[in-house]
Amino acid sequence: MVEAQEVCVACNTELDDYHQASCQMCGGKFHHPWDGEVQMPLCGSMASHEEALALVFLCSNCYQALEEGE
Ligand SMILES: [Zn+2]
Ligand SMILES: [Zn+2]
Repeated sequence: MVEAQEVCVACNTELDDYHQASCQMCGGKFHHPWDGEVQMPLCGSMASHEEALALVFLCSNCYQALEEGE
């Protein structure tokens, strides 16, 4: 049985098992390098969430939508 490989919601390529994060808005996973040594696309951003008073992770799709919505 072959496991379905998860893909990044932002760039649609395979995710790294470790260097990934989940988007707070759409729940999708995206590339997020946890240390500066790895070569991978950065497909999301940290954004401050006013209601949660915390930093949340957003994929670049949702981050862009958020920026454009204001
Ligand atoms: Zn990606
Ligand atoms: Zn998202």
